Amino acid sequence: MQYKPLETAEKRVYNIRQIKEGYQKMELTANYHTHTYRCGHAGGTDREYIETAIQAGYKVLGFSDHSPMVYDTDHHSGYRMRLDQAEEYFTTLTDLKKEYRNEIEIRVGVEAEYYPATHGRFMEFLRQYPCEYMILGQHFLLREEDGVYAGSPYADSFLLEAYYKNILDGVKTGDFLYVAHPDLFHFVGKPKLYDRTVRAFLEEIKSLGVPLEINRLGYADRRAYPAPRFWRLAGEAGATAVIGVDAHRPDHLTDVDGIQGCLRLAAKNGLTVRESFTF
Ligand SMILES: [Zn+2]
Ligand SMILES: [Zn+2]
Repeated sequence: MQYKPLETAEKRVYNIRQIKEGYQKMELTANYHTHTYRCGHAGGTDREYIETAIQAGYKVLGFSDHSPMVYDTDHHSGYRMRLDQAEEYFTTLTDLKKEYRNEIEIRVGVEAEYYPATHGRFMEFLRQYPCEYMILGQHFLLREEDGVYAGSPYADSFLLEAYYKNILDGVKTGDFLYVAHPDLFHFVGKPKLYDRTVRAFLEEIKSLGVPLEINRLGYADRRAYPAPRFWRLAGEAGATAVIGVDAHRPDHLTDVDGIQGCLRLAAKNGLTVRESFTF
């Protein structure tokens, strides 16, 4: 992804709070889904994200870059920071959190998958660092090395069911704050099978009390998610949503059209939007 210079971002800085009028009591003053250059496909400096968030009126900015991951094999991921970058990531951001504490609440976390076979070792690795929270972004099914990317089209209901079970098992560890883009799995099979699986997933998620993210990046890029059918079912199930900017550039934080689109989707389906967390 090409990073546009910040001067473009500055021109697009709006008061985020102004855009929410008419959307229940929702104000997007917190975003927990922010990447950094360390993952290799995001742009801008840490400070540019922070300064943009302050100008835009955010009260909370959570960094959740693609986590380094522990594998059973010598697999190398092309979309996350390396294990040896973790130290610098947490140190730098924790220093910035202190430096900016009077202007904005900065939280330092990661976006990670739940891979059952290696999760224990992964958590052991992460415990060495001041990681405040994790969001569950399940990009691959069960084991990254197998390459079953959730965003590819699948007609097999077995994979669909396995994907949502994978997410539920992850949520049940209690390690994750919320589920990022829970509608990433691109099912192209029978709609009836989709509805049945997703309904069952939503019932369980609701009882676990974990919010589901409406993803601004997918909306802005016109990806298959946010998937209207998923959010219709989520509304029927009474699920709680959270808006995630999924910023891969500082000016994504001020993407009013994208944020508005996500808020409209939530409002249209009668979803309660959770704005911030205490932890
Ligand atoms: Zn990314
Ligand atoms: Zn992300």
